[in-house]
Amino acid sequence: MVRVRFAPSPTGSLHLGGALTAVVNRRFADERGGSLVLRIDDTDPERVLPGAEAGILADLAWLGIPWDEGPVRQSERGAVYRAAAEALLAAGAASREADGAVRATAGGRPTLVRADGRATYSLASVVDDLELGVTHVIRGKDLQPTTPAQEAIARALGREPPEFLHHGLLVGQDGRKLSKRARSSSVAGLRERGLPAEAVRAYLEGLGLPRGDVRYDEARLRRHAVEALGALPAGELAARAGVEARFGPALRGAHDLVEARALALQIAAPPDPVDVGSPETLLRFRELRGAAAEQLDAEAAKAIVRELKAVGGDLRALRLALTGARRGPELWAVLVALPRAEALRRAGA
Ligand code: GLU
Repeated sequence: MVRVRFAPSPTGSLHLGGALTAVVNRRFADERGGSLVLRIDDTDPERVLPGAEAGILADLAWLGIPWDEGPVRQSERGAVYRAAAEALLAAGAASREADGAVRATAGGRPTLVRADGRATYSLASVVDDLELGVTHVIRGKDLQPTTPAQEAIARALGREPPEFLHHGLLVGQDGRKLSKRARSSSVAGLRERGLPAEAVRAYLEGLGLPRGDVRYDEARLRRHAVEALGALPAGELAARAGVEARFGPALRGAHDLVEARALALQIAAPPDPVDVGSPETLLRFRELRGAAAEQLDAEAAKAIVRELKAVGGDLRALRLALTGARRGPELWAVLVALPRAEALRRAGA
């Protein structure tokens, strides 16, 4: 039975590189009928950031990446690690330093237990992978240097280590690992910038299990965003943008949810009154709109536009009167977005 784990350190917010590791593990488990354990690597209290774990959990939920077990917190498993350290000492695979710290005798001699008695990641990760029955450790290539020592510690504990798979990293334009601190490439940062979760997920899924490093491609992510937003029903699109459903049709074509929201707010704000000319068109519009429902649906709105077109109405003047702009969403969608009284007012009533 395949068991994998995603093991973020709560030292900052989840960035795209970490999310890639999560996606890769989830898919690996799903394709094999296996399970995913969420482990929180919080052995180092000085580096733990308050709220980071909650943020990571929220980001995973937003991305639609569920886990089957956990979160298992390393900070709560000190006794398990101390017992393992004793076993390593007894086996001669570790030695105690003068200050009380325990270090492995091989594999680069990593510190396993600090002088204050707390286990380090080097020991905790191995013990957890064994104890939790992890069959495959799938993680970024940046952790590859720790693998030989982790395998050696597992064997010194009398166990066969899991299989290790290392994927290429997501790197920035400069070829360097996307920084955890770079807000723009954190999952929360992308969400704040209005990228829908489906797009981030699709982008990461599209990377597969990269062997080599991959350059972060924002243009590609944005293409996924346009596609994902285009697939949403109008009401859902409006809800995601945080605006009333009536704005939905007018938000079609927005490139992200921030832009969609701005578009809705722009339509909601009455334009400065200007003389747009074409009084007959505006008059006919007021007649048609006045006779129709308070809230137009797409069909009723399109019928009004068709009627105006049929009598040779000046639709550009009407758009200008209603929105204050010469371009924008389709006119029928603007009609759906505006309540009757507001549309009549803007059309000169
Ligand atoms: N907590 C480690 C990190 O976030 C990952 C440990 C691992 O996957 O073994 O870099």
